Amino acid sequence: MQLQDYKPIPKLVTPQTLTQRPRFPVVDAHNHLDNLFPHLASMPVSAILDQLDEVDIRVYVDLDGGWGEEILRRHLDRYKATAPERFIHFGGVDWSQWPEHGDRFGEWAAARFRQQVAWGAQGLKIWKNFGLHVTDQHGERVRVNDPRLSPLWETAAEYQLPVLIHVADPVAFFDPIDETNERWEELQQNPDWAFTSPPFPPFLSILEDFAALVTAHPRTTFIGAHVGCYSENLAWVSQLLERCPNLYVDIAARISELGRQPYSSRRFFLKHADRILFGTDIGPNPEGTRIYYRFLETEDEYFRYDPGDIPGQGRWNIYGIYLPDDVLKKVYHQNALRLFQLSTLP
Ligand SMILES: [Zn+2]
Repeated sequence: MQLQDYKPIPKLVTPQTLTQRPRFPVVDAHNHLDNLFPHLASMPVSAILDQLDEVDIRVYVDLDGGWGEEILRRHLDRYKATAPERFIHFGGVDWSQWPEHGDRFGEWAAARFRQQVAWGAQGLKIWKNFGLHVTDQHGERVRVNDPRLSPLWETAAEYQLPVLIHVADPVAFFDPIDETNERWEELQQNPDWAFTSPPFPPFLSILEDFAALVTAHPRTTFIGAHVGCYSENLAWVSQLLERCPNLYVDIAARISELGRQPYSSRRFFLKHADRILFGTDIGPNPEGTRIYYRFLETEDEYFRYDPGDIPGQGRWNIYGIYLPDDVLKKVYHQNALRLFQLSTLP
């Protein structure tokens, strides 16, 4: 038998909790619409809202606008215009324009962001190509804490709009792809996710630049995507949260990591309950979203973190962290309401 055909079924007999709906209403602070999930383009917005209602997602944050102003405007027209209280759309940066603007690129990007806000953007999304692929007018890789970008971060602060930033990726994507790589199967499926260092910068150097960025702009609110971009090391994220009150984190696409270290995760959630945002990254997807609720709410043990045949991020299972109600409320919606300056849930 080949490894890819091996799909063992655990024979444990332990409680299996059905989390059809969350204990409290939810803001999904990290997700995407039809640019990342093209099947949504042919669905009426009302049908998308039905899917969100099924799992009590009241507000849905769409980061697709980070891919381009055309997408941002299309999504504002299609979603925001249809259900203004249900959708929040983020703008972004067109890095390909760096050579044209040279050392003044930061000013130019800030001006574009002002325009995006005028159209209706409620935050700024920075993709992981920043720190990995983005280059300046000399063809040099731009570091995450490059001071030439200060005008952009300060403009977000001026509007009091958050910057949701994803740098680097799972640590194993930076390691050699050999028999010791815990993401080997995932990297076989997605070879372009490998950022083996060298030639890419080491994982930790990107994360240190990220910490320097957040520290250098205390007036700017940053949301570190995917548990502060380092879900394998909650102690590292925790000390950064302690040092930088302007930092939040989302948990999108990382219950696989959080749920395999349930003791550390539970301590992390209890300690930083005011700074953690719910997010999934999986589109309007009731089945997948319910696994997030199961992870956050229950004491269930050793269950699958995604609905696929073979778990996508690695062959392990996860454990629920049974958060208390006050923490759940903060993570599910209270922190997001404060961050997006919303007075109530729709
Ligand atoms: Zn995402």
